[in-house]
Amino acid sequence: MTITALGIDFGTSGARAIALNAKGEILASTRRTLAQPDNPQEWAATLWELIQEIPLKVRQQIQRIAIDGTSATVLLCNPDGDPISPALLYNDDRAQESLKVLAGIAPANHLVLSATSSLVKLLWLWEHYPTAGGYFLHQADWLAFLLHGQLGISDWHNALKLGYDPAAETYPDWFYHPILAPLQPLLPKVVAPGTVIGTPTRIAQSLGLSSECQICAGTTDSIAAFLASGAHHVGDAVTSLGSTLVLKLLSNRPVQDRAAGIYSHRLGDLWLVGGASNCGAAILGQFFTPTELEHLSRHINPQQPTGLDYYPLLRRGERFPVNDPHLEPRLEPRPAEPHLFLQGLLESLSRIEQQGYQRLQTLGASPLQRVWTAGGGAHNPAWLAIRQQFLGVPVAISPQTEAAYGAALLACGSTNSLQNRQQSYPFTSGC
Ligand code: ADP
Repeated sequence: MTITALGIDFGTSGARAIALNAKGEILASTRRTLAQPDNPQEWAATLWELIQEIPLKVRQQIQRIAIDGTSATVLLCNPDGDPISPALLYNDDRAQESLKVLAGIAPANHLVLSATSSLVKLLWLWEHYPTAGGYFLHQADWLAFLLHGQLGISDWHNALKLGYDPAAETYPDWFYHPILAPLQPLLPKVVAPGTVIGTPTRIAQSLGLSSECQICAGTTDSIAAFLASGAHHVGDAVTSLGSTLVLKLLSNRPVQDRAAGIYSHRLGDLWLVGGASNCGAAILGQFFTPTELEHLSRHINPQQPTGLDYYPLLRRGERFPVNDPHLEPRLEPRPAEPHLFLQGLLESLSRIEQQGYQRLQTLGASPLQRVWTAGGGAHNPAWLAIRQQFLGVPVAISPQTEAAYGAALLACGSTNSLQNRQQSYPFTSGC
């Protein structure tokens, strides 16, 4: 690829734009915090500001743009694209009654059966903001509309929690249920992430974007972060060592275990299989300050395992790799030396990570080949060495973790038909 691309990320705490050149080098980068993350007017103003803060020379060169947003942040808008409902954020769970209604319609344990899913939110919005001729859009869909002017378009990734089936490339049959049927006109048409949708509107051009720039279908913030990581072959995985442990493995096949929260996002002909444990680095903060974590980690000898076998949950209940809502935290015995206690915790989290990848492969995902690492725990060398031993494959720190970088890579790849890629996802070294 030989193009300049702009990736724009709307995440949980702020928004960022990154422009990449043909070699995948960062030409410009801007960032804004969102004072009111649920205010679409602020999203729009932030989008314009992010673009205008890219130096004019770079802005004029941009040939493709893709936007990612937080998954299941949604709104209703009228036929002009003006919001007619509040934006419901990714973690908004007010739609409990709608969830009960949907539980009688969708298959058991389906991804949409959560109070925060896009489909449950659509049911709630329809009840409270009835509209004729309107559109239900995700954050990324609506922001892209501001640039290309076309309403009613979403992508495989954002639409997964709306119930869209990316393998069959259609909404499932149960959408014809009498309660859901009236919502059909509101549903977006769904295309592959990165598909070119159109060129900039006049307003977008007035920001200095070329009239020939192509605006692409977007993705979600977590998939954009995966794309940024450097993972691109079948068997590549990204572990996020944040508050919780989140695993994503690039596979030839989709797998799912709805009860365990395991599901697959489509990436061209490949599948991004994911699961999240309730355990994670948050437990470390219960026992150690950041300084202690750094200091004690230096005293850990990864070659001398402690033999400690904890299950370091913050509270009762686990979903993945074992689905057991009654599983109790296990944090005993506790050695007198704090660095050994920390080592025991890191080993136990590494064991859970290893069991997680094992579980995904047992369900049919492609074999694990190498693991990139993101999140606050990624830069702990002792943990990296321990994980390497448990996983038995190369483990590295992700060179890039910015979702905006991943969105720019998605924009770069959009002329290639991702569906025709068999063995690897097309992003190797930037564009
Ligand atoms: P999130 O975005 O999920 O809240 P982050 O990716 O910001 O999490 O990572 C925060 C986590 O990183 C904290 O739970 C903290 O315990 C962990 N962390 C920070 N420093 C270290 C370290 N040196 N070693 C291991 N874990 C660490």
